[in-house]
Amino acid sequence: MGSRMTRLDPVFADKITFVKAVQRDAVSDTASIEALVKTILGNVRERGDAAVRDYAREFDGSDLQEFEVTQEQRQAALAALDPQTRADTEFAIERVRAFAEAQLATILPLESEPLPGLHLGHRVIPIRRIGAYVPGGRYPLLSAPVMTIVPARVAGCEEVIACLPPTAHPAMIAGCHLAGADRIFLVGGAQAIAAMAFGTETIPAVDKIVGPGNAFVNEAKRQVFGPVGIDQLAGPSEIFTVADHTGDPEMIATDMLAQAEHDIRTRVGLITTDRALAEATLEAVERQLLDLSTANVAGPAWRDYGEIAVCADEATMIAYSDFIAAEHLQVHTADPQATAARLRNYGSLFIGPLASVVYSDKCCGTNHTLPTMAAGRYTGGLWVGSFVKICTHQWLDERGVAAVAPPAVRQSAAEGLEGHRRAAAFRQR
Ligand code: NAD
Repeated sequence: MGSRMTRLDPVFADKITFVKAVQRDAVSDTASIEALVKTILGNVRERGDAAVRDYAREFDGSDLQEFEVTQEQRQAALAALDPQTRADTEFAIERVRAFAEAQLATILPLESEPLPGLHLGHRVIPIRRIGAYVPGGRYPLLSAPVMTIVPARVAGCEEVIACLPPTAHPAMIAGCHLAGADRIFLVGGAQAIAAMAFGTETIPAVDKIVGPGNAFVNEAKRQVFGPVGIDQLAGPSEIFTVADHTGDPEMIATDMLAQAEHDIRTRVGLITTDRALAEATLEAVERQLLDLSTANVAGPAWRDYGEIAVCADEATMIAYSDFIAAEHLQVHTADPQATAARLRNYGSLFIGPLASVVYSDKCCGTNHTLPTMAAGRYTGGLWVGSFVKICTHQWLDERGVAAVAPPAVRQSAAEGLEGHRRAAAFRQR
């Protein structure tokens, strides 16, 4: 997995120089995580709640006997939330809901008649039951449940359950409640994913599991995929900026460190055509780290996974950015809209210097659950469309049968599929 991170594609070889290069690949001990998660999934599938309790004790030091958060516990968590935090969370919920509603309005049902008597269409059907995994983490990130639960509600899913580690900050229970979770369970890690995939005595099996988490959560999602849907496999956060001489080194450095403080494996970068900006940004990052209270996390992330690439020309800057396919991509150029129009691969785009990634992370309305590790090459992030299925249908009258039956009969015969041929011919008059 890691090789994509540091190996430079030969097409860039003589067109990019690094003022600061990535120091190591994002490799982890995948084999042992894979084996442990397989065991956890098997045990939860077999022993249900009893296995979940055992793992909660082992990994979270929790001896909870009942995992489901009661209405009283929800109200207590709400009461403990300070009024401003509650108001800010409600603001975020409103913004995410409004944008999800606007996006849902673009997902339209279809009825068409491409040939007389041949009717083809599709319907937009909400997925019935969603499981939202809400990660624990170092900080109570109230926006995390908002981003996974609110769009599911807007999509019209019948039931949305949430799982979060028993060690999560109590404010996160309030966040799940305000976002609209029907049921909330204090279960974390791979055992939560297993419970939502297979069902236990208390936790219902869901149709799709969404939400970010650590390596155990992601590996569990990968292993349960198939019988249950998943959104994507989220790695550590990423932020890149493409910039020309108009970029502000202090702002770009601030934005990189804002993401770097998430995790020591956060990937941060600047891709620029301007060497002076590159050097000034390098200097600004080092200086800003000196008095950043989260430098113990942001510093190692910058040292190991930070990069500043100087490109020979704008076309190389665009191509390298598309190669990286960063989760968050900022555009700080003289004409940011024109540059944005040329970019193809990213999770979400932040066009112009006023569009801070933090606004989207928290509350502007776009979803912050985005593709990482270059998955932006083939997918966008979580959105209301992740919670619906587009399912086709067809109906025909005699004219439609007259048009499609003869080629279907001939094709079936040519393939030697006599049963197919008979079914296709049966409706011909
Ligand atoms: P988590 O909820 O992902 O995982 C905690 C669980 O992991 C625990 O409940 C425990 O059961 C399990 N676990 C811990 N150590 C284990 C071990 N040794 N073996 C087996 N299971 C173990 O919370 P976290 O670990 O704090 O990580 C949060 C992650 O979520 C971070 O990677 C963070 O970057 C990510 N995150 C992403 C977003 C986003 O939107 N992209 C938002 C918030 C958090």
